[in-house]
Amino acid sequence: MTSNRLRIAIQKSGRLSKESQQLLKNCGVKFTVNEQRLIAHADNMPLDLLRVRDDDIPGLVMDGVVDLGIIGENVLEEEQIERQTLGKPSACNKLRQLDFGACRLSLAVPSEFPYQDAASLEGLRIATSYPNLLRRFMQNKGISYRDCMLKGSVEVAPRAGLADGICDLVSTGATLEANGLYETEVIFRSMACVIQSQQTQTPAKQALIDKLMSRVNGVIRARESKYILLHAPTETLEQIVALLPGAENPTVLPLNDDSNRVAIHAVSTEDLFWDTMEELTKLGASSILVMPIEKMMG
Ligand code: ATP
Ligand code: MG
Repeated sequence: MTSNRLRIAIQKSGRLSKESQQLLKNCGVKFTVNEQRLIAHADNMPLDLLRVRDDDIPGLVMDGVVDLGIIGENVLEEEQIERQTLGKPSACNKLRQLDFGACRLSLAVPSEFPYQDAASLEGLRIATSYPNLLRRFMQNKGISYRDCMLKGSVEVAPRAGLADGICDLVSTGATLEANGLYETEVIFRSMACVIQSQQTQTPAKQALIDKLMSRVNGVIRARESKYILLHAPTETLEQIVALLPGAENPTVLPLNDDSNRVAIHAVSTEDLFWDTMEELTKLGASSILVMPIEKMMG
């Protein structure tokens, strides 16, 4: 079934859904999500959001059912290997990495396990929801192991006597710790990303994709940047500018009633941390303001 409207698959509910929706809203897509509905129509663009389980997103894009998908690289890679093994279509274009959904797929073992390297797992059973990524990693190292495929509750498998170790997603490590496990090896690092189907797009759809992606770049650049305003003594001006992280060509303006001081306006590509602010005040800077930037273009 074809549609004139651009279709984007996002996670219905889970770790990526809020930020995926927010990103599209920041790109100017107007929509309201009805929790009961699979589809949300945008009001101001020929665009529909498909809200599905994240596991379904790579396949929907690879089969050309939707045009774009927002998905964790871990799920994308897992599906790609799975489909290659089965001889199913597995191609899609990764348009860009996003700035959320950071996690890593890691091996972990119970705290009493005498782990030296991945070979310590030779012949043992490993519980995971990512059998393909695990197999690729272990095959590259020439280690044989036994699978224990679990879609959830992977972290309780060793204690329940189902497996000797696990291969699971970690972000802070708190879940591992709470289950008496420790992380021994990172096998894949992941962020959310935008993927596009390789099935023929109409020129109008492709133009909308290009426009959206240019806005995504602008939104992410703005999120990574800060607008900094401060007053500086003219004699320490150079040192002060040198301290501003990633600020190129700041604007320097005279102050009305003070010829020894100037105002500096700068866009910094990083956040300005407290330590740097303290350094700046030591150099005589005052009235330091650090402000978020909403949008950036050009
Ligand atoms: P669904 O019901 O859509 O299948 P899910 O339970 O498979 O959801 P979530 O737990 O919501 O998935 O995670 C979605 C994605 O979020 C992961 O695939 C991963 O890319 C990313 N992520 C970021 N941090 C973590 C984390 N600490 N644990 C798990 N996933 C994380
Ligand atoms: Mg899932």
